[in-house]
Amino acid sequence: MSININIEYKTAEGIYPKFFSKMQDKSLAVLCDFNTKPFADELIKKLEKICNKINLVYFDDRELIPNDYVCEKSIEGATGYDYVLAVGSGSLNDVAKYVGTTLKIESGVLATAASMDGYVSKGSALMLKGYKVTKDVNTPADILIDLDIISAAPRLMTAAGFGDIIGKFTCLTDWQLGYYHNGEEINKEAFELMEKARTECVDSFDDLKRYTFDAVAKLMDALLIAGLSMAMCGNSRPASGSEHHISHYLEMDFVRRGEVVPPHGVKVAIGTLVSIELYNYLKDNNVQFKGCEEVYKLVEKLPSALELEYMLEEIGCPTRFSDIGVDKTLLAETIAKAYTVRDRYTVLTLINELGLTDRVLPIILEKYL
Ligand SMILES: [Zn+2]
Repeated sequence: MSININIEYKTAEGIYPKFFSKMQDKSLAVLCDFNTKPFADELIKKLEKICNKINLVYFDDRELIPNDYVCEKSIEGATGYDYVLAVGSGSLNDVAKYVGTTLKIESGVLATAASMDGYVSKGSALMLKGYKVTKDVNTPADILIDLDIISAAPRLMTAAGFGDIIGKFTCLTDWQLGYYHNGEEINKEAFELMEKARTECVDSFDDLKRYTFDAVAKLMDALLIAGLSMAMCGNSRPASGSEHHISHYLEMDFVRRGEVVPPHGVKVAIGTLVSIELYNYLKDNNVQFKGCEEVYKLVEKLPSALELEYMLEEIGCPTRFSDIGVDKTLLAETIAKAYTVRDRYTVLTLINELGLTDRVLPIILEKYL
C-alpha cells in the first residue's frame, strides 16, 4: 500500500512550507485544548494570511476526554471547512482523524508531545456513550512537528514516548518468536525500519535525557516510523507485542472502573520489563519448545530488564505497577489473560501454552509490583 503522509518539521523561518502551500485559500478548522491553545494561536497567526477562513474549536480542558460532546462540537466546528487540524497529541489527534473521516475532509496534527506511537495510526480511540471504542479512520494527511514545543513538553510525556519505543525490543522479538515457532511471515522491510529507528533512538539516550533537539527528533521519528511500519504491514505487528497486550489489558480495566488511564507509553514500558523477564525465564530454565534455539539466541541480544529499568528511571518513567495504580490481583490477572486481547502469538501466549503462568507470576510480582 502507498503511505502518503506529509511529515514536516518547522523550518528556521518558523513555517511548514508544504502544508502552508496546501492551505492557500482553503478554509481550516483548528482543534485545541487548554494546554495547547498557545501553540494553536501562534500557528493561526501565521495561517491567517494564507487561509481564507479559520475556525478555532477550543476545549477548556487540561485532560481532554474524546467523548461525545468533544466529537460533536468538533464536527460542528469543522462542517463546511476544507481541513481539520488538531493541535495536541493523543486525544485531540484521535478526534481530528475521526472528524476528518466523518466529514470526508483531510485531517492533520501539530504534534505537541513525543508521547506515543499513534499519530499515524488508522484507529481513533474515543470514549463514546461511556465506552472506549476504536473507530477505523483515515490516517492524517499532515503531521507538523515543532521541536521547540516537543522538547518543552511535560517530562512524563517524553518519558512515555521513550517507554513506547523500548517496547519495540519485545514486540520485534515476539514477531520473530511467531516466525520460528509458528512459521508466521515477517515483513522484512517493516521489521528493519522499526528496528533501525528504535536503535537510533535508544543510542541517543544520553542526549534525550537532556532533551536536545536532535535526540527528541529521533524519538519522534521512531514513534512515527512505528505508525508507518504498521501501515506497511496492514496490522500492528511491527510495533505491538506482549508489552502492548499488557498495556491494553490494564487500560480496559481502568476504563471499566472509570479511572484515569495511565499514559500508554508508561504501561508499555513496564510491560516491556515483564516480557523481557519472561523471555529470560524460559532461556535460563532451558524450557524446550519449537524454535527455542533460535529464540534463545535472540534473547541473548536483548538488553537486560535492569538496564532498561535504569534508563526509564533516569528519564522519569515509572517502572513498577504499583506506581501507576495496579494492584496484585489485577497484575496476576493481566499476566494470565493479557494474551487473549489480540489473536497474536507472543511470549505471553507461549508461557500460557506451556502452563508456566503460575511459575512466573511470583517472580513478576516480586520484581515489578
Ligand atoms: Zn504503543
